Amino acid sequence: MKKIAIIGAGISGLFLANLLEQGKSHSYKIFEKKNSLDLNERYGIQLSVNSINLLNEIGFQKINVSNICFPKKVNFLDAKNSKKICDIDLSQFNNQSNRYTTLKRSKLIEFLLENIPKEKIVYNSDLVDIKDQDKLALSFRDKKNEEFDYLVAADGVYSKTKQILFKKDGLPKYFNSIALRGNIENFENFDISLYLGPNFHFVIYPINQNKEFNFISIVRKELIEEEISNRNLFKDNTFINNLLKHISSKSHLNLDKKVKEIKCFPIFVSKKFQIPKSKNIFLTGDAFYSFPPSFAQGASQSIEGAKDLFNDLKNNSTNYYKKRILKTKQINSRSSFNHFAFHISNPLNVFFRNIFLKHLSKNKRFLENYLGKIYNN
Ligand SMILES: Cc1cc2nc3c(=O)[nH]c(=O)nc-3n(C[C@H](O)[C@H](O)[C@H](O)COP(=O)(O)OP(=O)(O)OC[C@H]3O[C@@H](n4cnc5c(N)ncnc54)[C@H](O)[C@@H]3O)c2cc1C
Repeated sequence: MKKIAIIGAGISGLFLANLLEQGKSHSYKIFEKKNSLDLNERYGIQLSVNSINLLNEIGFQKINVSNICFPKKVNFLDAKNSKKICDIDLSQFNNQSNRYTTLKRSKLIEFLLENIPKEKIVYNSDLVDIKDQDKLALSFRDKKNEEFDYLVAADGVYSKTKQILFKKDGLPKYFNSIALRGNIENFENFDISLYLGPNFHFVIYPINQNKEFNFISIVRKELIEEEISNRNLFKDNTFINNLLKHISSKSHLNLDKKVKEIKCFPIFVSKKFQIPKSKNIFLTGDAFYSFPPSFAQGASQSIEGAKDLFNDLKNNSTNYYKKRILKTKQINSRSSFNHFAFHISNPLNVFFRNIFLKHLSKNKRFLENYLGKIYNN
């Protein structure tokens, strides 16, 4: 039986492991950098029907319904006065068994871990070298070496595997934006609320039936090289509070009082597609391509990508990169366009943007092309 090394126990790595566990066609081992996975984290994630469909293949429909939510709409609101601009009906893309879903990321990870035997995940693993010989010889920082037939890099946006393979070219680039993440209790709306402001947007959505909500804001911010590489800056309370105060002052909600457990991180995106020379090495999830987070597709695409890769491994075919590049281009252009449209600051442009939004949000053909193509394919 051929052996697969999966680097990273995130969404894509764990989903692939679930498929391999079901398929029994390959043996595998997951190498995770951290010493454990945090199953108490309270931040949320949105999953569209394309990934729910795949998750249901491994039993996601059995997850406790109190831990998930099915928002029916995205409400677009003007941040400065909370007035509704328009809404998009998400339920039009649902079917009986697959619905747009929101939940805590940690609940998704907990679910993905359920069917993976503990001994198949090796924590505290840091890959330092790959030798492409007869087999792939992997070396780890603790001096352990092991040979595999395939290597799957599922180690996220800062993929070390990609850096080993492509050196500097494997690094992502700063997207001139910062993310603020937090939690809100008892928000009044159980759909997805998307607030648009000048050079920022924020989204509030429920993550369970317990009146807990996720807050995520993307704020445009130019930083100099030194600031970007200074990870302490993003943990600095003054820096975080100033950012929150900035968006709070331009919004109608009392965000600095409402949002709790706030965390801040810089947004990095991929520079270009990279395909390893070895046909036995695969990049998946954010390690393959990381998008701007304005289309909420990163996790769903990580799940789709893992499924495409599994199909190639199972059928001994070579469609993976072709399929992924095509889909990634579609998502990337939509994410970049959303980011631009959400952050418009000139009042005249805002006026016209809102007219377009009102029109497009009810235009069936546009929605089918813009969202349906991604959600239902
Ligand atoms: C602000 C923000 C909001 C988002 N919201 C959404 C959303 O609502 N919906 C959505 O679909 N997507 C969302 N995304 C994107 C989504 O979170 C990612 O696309 C997704 O988590 C990628 O999954 P992954 O498995 O590729 O990587 P990850 O989930 O990041 O997992 C990578 C794993 O690899 C491990 N690792 C890292 N380096 C190493 C190493 N050297 N060796 C071993 N292990 C390593 C990490 O510890 C981690 O466990 C958002 C992203 C951001 C930035």
